[in-house]
Amino acid sequence: MTIIHSSGFPRIGAQRELKQAQEAYWSGRIDADRLEQSGRELRARHWQLQADAGLDLIPVGDFSWYDTLLDLTVTLGVVPARFEWSGGEVDLDTVFRMARGRAPSGTAAAACEMTKWFDTNYHYIVPELEAEQRFALSSQQLFVQVSEAQTAGHRVKPVLPGPLTWLWLGKTKGAEFDKLSLHDALLPVYSELLHRLQSLGIEWVQIDEPILALDLPPAWRNAFESTYSRLQTPGLKKLLATCFGPLQENLELVTHLPVEGLHLDAVRAPQELAMAVDKLPAYKVLSVGIVDGRNIWRTDLDTALLQLDNLQQRLGERLWLAPSCSLLHVPVDLASETALDPEIKPWLAFAVQKLEELFALKQALDGNLSRVTGALSASRQAVNARKNSGRTHNRAVRDRIAAITGDLSRRNRPYAERAGIQRSALDLPRYPTTTIGSFPQTAEIRRLRRDFKRGILDSNTYRNRILREIEQVIRKQETLGLDVLVHGEAERNDMVEYFGEQLEGFTFTANGWVQSYGSRCVKPPILFGDVSRPQAMTIDWITHAQSLTDKPVKGMLTGPVTLLNWSFVRDDQPRAATCLQIALALRDEVLELEAAGIRIIQIDEAALREGLPLRRQDWQRYLERAVHAFRVTASGVADVTQIHTHMCYSEFNDIIESIAVMDADVITIETSRSDMELLDAFEHFDYPNEIGPGVYDIHSPNVPETGDIVALMKKAAQRIPAERLWINPDCGLKTRGWPEVERALSNMVNAADILRG
Ligand code: GLN
Ligand code: ZN
Repeated sequence: MTIIHSSGFPRIGAQRELKQAQEAYWSGRIDADRLEQSGRELRARHWQLQADAGLDLIPVGDFSWYDTLLDLTVTLGVVPARFEWSGGEVDLDTVFRMARGRAPSGTAAAACEMTKWFDTNYHYIVPELEAEQRFALSSQQLFVQVSEAQTAGHRVKPVLPGPLTWLWLGKTKGAEFDKLSLHDALLPVYSELLHRLQSLGIEWVQIDEPILALDLPPAWRNAFESTYSRLQTPGLKKLLATCFGPLQENLELVTHLPVEGLHLDAVRAPQELAMAVDKLPAYKVLSVGIVDGRNIWRTDLDTALLQLDNLQQRLGERLWLAPSCSLLHVPVDLASETALDPEIKPWLAFAVQKLEELFALKQALDGNLSRVTGALSASRQAVNARKNSGRTHNRAVRDRIAAITGDLSRRNRPYAERAGIQRSALDLPRYPTTTIGSFPQTAEIRRLRRDFKRGILDSNTYRNRILREIEQVIRKQETLGLDVLVHGEAERNDMVEYFGEQLEGFTFTANGWVQSYGSRCVKPPILFGDVSRPQAMTIDWITHAQSLTDKPVKGMLTGPVTLLNWSFVRDDQPRAATCLQIALALRDEVLELEAAGIRIIQIDEAALREGLPLRRQDWQRYLERAVHAFRVTASGVADVTQIHTHMCYSEFNDIIESIAVMDADVITIETSRSDMELLDAFEHFDYPNEIGPGVYDIHSPNVPETGDIVALMKKAAQRIPAERLWINPDCGLKTRGWPEVERALSNMVNAADILRG
């Protein structure tokens, strides 16, 4: 019998119940008991659903109130001093304060850093490690949940981040030291955790070590052998799981580790399966991640079975099946999509459907073909329908791509010359102040959009109400004294979905939410066909905003790479080709904004970095294509038109040269949480254009003080000439409330005044 299992199910709930509970708790509308209750309900429901789908092992440990890596961090007792934890069980509010700076109880403190999980749009909270770091088992949460699932009658397989992945993703604080040196202190506690699981009657535990798909220094590679030898726990079997890419030089290493099973991502690295089987000792299980956990296309079950038949002949009962990675990265259930384009819907599979696919594969492999003939033929039909659909190809788009020449990706003059032209045209003060685009999305704004979507508001009324919102934010910004204004993005529920809805080639879901971080969920559009722009997307809003003020208003677009990276993208042609199609469509919008009198245009590339391949050897190619797509989008404008871009991260050092090649006149980036760490990049590389290092951490409700902003900017001015510096928040303000935003921006403007003086 083939065992099927999974690395995790989306924890947010089909109706985003997790988000509602979290936010209700943070705002004081429900108490901790009610919060815990909603967590128990979600877990119970998801376990049952997976059991009903036929999974043989049910994952526990994939639920989290914020982030599973953070959960391991607190379980190991790694709580930075500023959170004033005095030992014992780490309470929920401390977890929330680490994640977001504040919680209903406990003093507010600077939140821990947050960054993207490998090449996904999921964010984890970065562990902070000290040279003398101590570890102690400090949370019962995992054990409580294991017992909960067992009581409900499930055969439980806890899932945990591996010790080496956890260490690798951590960040050293204080004097620089080798993180691996913490290994000796960490392992006994990790081992204690495993013993506790064994004593709860657990047979299999899954330990995720996705860093095995990265380029690892030799010391880290060597550490695997000793780590897993030391984690031997009599009576407990370990499934070592990797995902997101080929293991390459780590494959050999992994097959020989002292663990009882190995999970491989067969979607990202199918070529390694046969090799793995060759090397795998006869006592080990191979779990094949055959169903794509990162994308929403239906599995071609026939092709999968061909692949698996071979493996089964060689492995027999030692073959397990699973999604390639946690299903956290896909929406919950396609069945709830009643309004989805009927031609496209059958091409898709969300988390629930992916479990059904696993079950069908299992039945087929186990010789119960007759039980799944329906599923197999439905799959075959859908896969063929997609292959032959006229909806995925557009002749005009393809002709235009074929006609692209070098000129299309070059501005007329170099930045050094453009800067002077722009300076005299825009006449901005030194240290110009601006924001990244969105302003708080109040309940009223969200209701407005919802009512419009549901047809309760007609388009005229809706338009007028949005125009009124725009007017309000323009007035607010003028009162605050900002220099470059924005229209506030009230019409956008999401910076990607808004464009996806208007571009040809995309379709979108009603409820296809995926967790990005904490309570923040996104609904990635589905990019299924050739992309084109049937009509203008932003001109009406932006020109209205500009008509209300003499100050420049930034036109605001999401860039091609970000639209690509934050969508579920077709897998039937290279991503670079799809990206270029988006770039051409956006280029038309840029030119139309310019023609309508907009003097500054921001093209957000929030997600450019997270698309970086996991292996260095693949970076150059990705970056060249990404930069090219951006330049195709941006380069049609006159020299006097100022192009901005924005990126949501501060790890800049290793890609700064490519970012410079994008040749945006101004870039704004995140950096306040990491204390201007990005400046390190400027030690070795002179960034030639203008830059706005974020001075306001918008992921936290805390308001930055004027003095802190001045200090951050002074730090920046040591490395970047003041005439090339801008002052702005880390990112858009849509998730924040007005009172804090007004105070923060007012402090920002005061800081600019002080710096100018
Ligand atoms: N312009 C967008 C906003 O302000 C940028 C958001 C982002 O970078 N994630 O919301
Ligand atoms: Zn951002």
